[in-house]
Amino acid sequence: MISASVPNNTGNPIGVFDSGVGGLTVVHALMERLPCEKIIYFGDTARVPYGVKSTETIIGYARQIAGFLLARDVKMLIVACNTMSAVAYEEIRRLSAVPVLDVIEAGADMALVATKTKRVGVIGTPATINSEAYTRAIHSRDKEEWGVTDGSKEEVESYFQGICPQARQLIELPKTWKRWATADREPIARWSFGRATLLGDAAHPTTQYMAQGACMALEDAVTLGEALRVNGNDWVKALDLYQRSRITRTGRIVLSGREMGRLYHAKGVERQIRNSLWKGRTQERFYDAMEWLYGWNVTNCLTD
Ligand SMILES: Cc1cc2nc3c(=O)[nH]c(=O)nc-3n(C[C@H](O)[C@H](O)[C@H](O)COP(=O)(O)OP(=O)(O)OC[C@H]3O[C@@H](n4cnc5c(N)ncnc54)[C@H](O)[C@@H]3O)c2cc1C
Repeated sequence: MISASVPNNTGNPIGVFDSGVGGLTVVHALMERLPCEKIIYFGDTARVPYGVKSTETIIGYARQIAGFLLARDVKMLIVACNTMSAVAYEEIRRLSAVPVLDVIEAGADMALVATKTKRVGVIGTPATINSEAYTRAIHSRDKEEWGVTDGSKEEVESYFQGICPQARQLIELPKTWKRWATADREPIARWSFGRATLLGDAAHPTTQYMAQGACMALEDAVTLGEALRVNGNDWVKALDLYQRSRITRTGRIVLSGREMGRLYHAKGVERQIRNSLWKGRTQERFYDAMEWLYGWNVTNCLTD
């Protein structure tokens, strides 16, 4: 273990660790940029190399080192080892009450800044390559694009590592994969302008987590028909009634979808809280919580 102290620092140290001495390049960069920070560096030179060891062994080592540094009141952990970042990052985050940074996210960012062809070669240990951590990190940064483009089975597989064999069978079935653009936009307060209005995704694009895009487009159409019927085909009045009847409900879908996405992908303590809140909840309680969504029908679709 090497300890690098810099004067004038009153805060807790930053814990940096690696399977060997390679992570000292990270420490060097930190000392240049954050000269007042105290740093504790742990290099596991006794057990290096990690890259050819099993996942379980690497996670076990990472747990020990993270525990060692956390016991020294570090205010942040930096996993300066690619192998540990690739294999044990989630476990370290789970253990740690302080923020944890890894080197893969930063590496993926830099690779995408540098590449001109969007083809990125990764040189790594067997454990790093087999984990597909770089594949996931690089694909997750693809910029938003409209429309439908070709996807790949490799990309899908990289998101579903370690799933049970029955679920894996589903991934084997499709012959082609598509990447569909989804849009997340703030709800807007006005859809109708005289005799023109918006409906469907044009009015309220939403993420996929409530699976309600098409349902809301159909509800819009039904509501628009009802609004015209009760207004005797007075278009301006009908479109005004239509938007008043729809904006709050579809806005709730947009915001709830965003929240559901956050919950589905929760990590660390947030994931534990989610699991404990949902554990033991009865089917009836789940249904009750969804009454506002599925209780909609044509007889109650207009606000007045
Ligand atoms: C993979 C995937 C899965 C989904 N799963 C669900 C689900 O389970 N449940 C659910 O409720 N929703 C789901 N959705 C969302 C749902 O498909 C959309 O919310 C719904 O299709 C929106 O309907 P829309 O009529 O507003 O728009 P669209 O269906 O997108 O229709 C718009 C049409 O306008 C055309 N168009 C665009 N520009 C022009 C132009 N300039 N001139 C002429 N025509 C134009 C387009 O070609 C398109 O045909 C899913 C979406 C995707 C991509």
